[in-house]
Amino acid sequence: MIILCLNCGSSSVKYRLYNWDERRTLAAGIVERIGIKDSFCEQEVAGKEHIRIPQDCQDHRQALQLAVSTMTHPRYGVIKDMSCISAVGHRVVHGGEKFAKSVIITPEIYKTFEDLSDLAPLHNPPNLMGIKAAQEFMPDIPHMAIMDTAWHQTMPEHVYTYALPYEWYTKYGVRRYGFHGTSFLYVAKRAAVLLEKNPFECNLVICHIGNGASVNAVKNGVSYDTSMGFTPLEGMMMGTRCGDHDTAIDFFIMQKENKSPQEMNSILNKKSGLLGITGKTDMRDIQDAVDRNDDMASLALEMECYRIKKYLGSYCFAVGGAHAIVFTAGIGEMSDIVREKSLQGLESLGIVFDPEKNRIAKTRNSESEISAKNSKVKIFVVPTDEERVLIEDVVHLLDGTYQIHTQFTYRFQDPEYMNTLRCLEFAEECQKKPELLGIMPLIYKKAFLKEVKKQEGLKKRIQQIPDVQKYLPGIEKELN
Ligand code: AMP
Repeated sequence: MIILCLNCGSSSVKYRLYNWDERRTLAAGIVERIGIKDSFCEQEVAGKEHIRIPQDCQDHRQALQLAVSTMTHPRYGVIKDMSCISAVGHRVVHGGEKFAKSVIITPEIYKTFEDLSDLAPLHNPPNLMGIKAAQEFMPDIPHMAIMDTAWHQTMPEHVYTYALPYEWYTKYGVRRYGFHGTSFLYVAKRAAVLLEKNPFECNLVICHIGNGASVNAVKNGVSYDTSMGFTPLEGMMMGTRCGDHDTAIDFFIMQKENKSPQEMNSILNKKSGLLGITGKTDMRDIQDAVDRNDDMASLALEMECYRIKKYLGSYCFAVGGAHAIVFTAGIGEMSDIVREKSLQGLESLGIVFDPEKNRIAKTRNSESEISAKNSKVKIFVVPTDEERVLIEDVVHLLDGTYQIHTQFTYRFQDPEYMNTLRCLEFAEECQKKPELLGIMPLIYKKAFLKEVKKQEGLKKRIQQIPDVQKYLPGIEKELN
């Protein structure tokens, strides 16, 4: 069974084609600059040339047409024609209070999303354009919606209600919704595997720190609080979003600089955060600038890490003590500096990271443990996989076995679950950085070795890793 995952933004369509029976990604790609000049499609296929096809796309329908013609391309393609696709899973940012789980999109459901566009004017309209175009283009197969907000529907009333006139909630739905839900779901379930605990007995604080960033307090396995709110603007300092600030500043500046609400909204969302302080949005550029003694870059880095620490502290209290702190997304997975600064000085609270393990843990292909032996709270780095959640939801909606996550076990909750593609990429990374092998959490290492025994190519690459014996003692004997 082949599933197409779509993530439609205002000027881009990201896609991934997945073969469920073989449990592997066939192709991943993106069509960019839709409705702007010079649109193009880029596609990656394991073991094939990376391709870029320039072609004008006026709208999402033409963009999908280009994506499908790339997936079915006689030379670079991976499927014969579109009839191979069994279902489409769409990422939808805002599901409001109506959806605590993924759904099959019917005309009524589509209408509900349209009504919700008011709550997410930047995100839902492009998501809906994508759904409409895909339904027109592939009318005979089911389309499903997987929402960023669904995971957070377990937040209690006293957590999601703002201290504002209550009628704003009853009239307009003003409340905390939270986002990054599919990422938090995946990471929370994986953390339970790493802790070797029932997911509903786990208290976690998950830091999803990417270009967009939010922190999630997970109590007894479900979302209890999260830093993003009514929109993705609240909470952390992000690439271009300001996060928490005194909203009186907005009115002050609107008066001083004669700005409209729309202009102010755009500044807070697109010109603030790391960009507002440094003129740069990418953490790699900021880290490089810090190395060159750039004062503003240093200030931005300190600000971002202090904000993470503040949320870590408050959420550890909110859940009554965390079993684990988990870092994920681009910065969370790759920036040892951000993790170090966010975790420093928490020893008296039982949170102790191992500086050497933290320095090593820079990979998007393997799970790592960076807590010190004497840390009461485990600290993990778990590469997120939102598409994996989307794919499993689609597959189980199709076969009728899908349930809300509190009554359902995902395959990636199996202690032996491995992402095959990531394993192969990890083996390549380890040729240069074999020390990554030494920081795998125990249960993950067992699953990884089991996968290595299954795949001859992977086994060969592992045996070629320099010093492999040092990081995986007894590996030669085990593999022979
Ligand atoms: P995401 O939104 O999850 O794709 O994360 C994107 C962010 O991850 C980018 O803004 C980068 O700043 C950050 N990132 C990616 N790789 C690294 C790295 N090696 N070191 C520091 N930050 C990184």
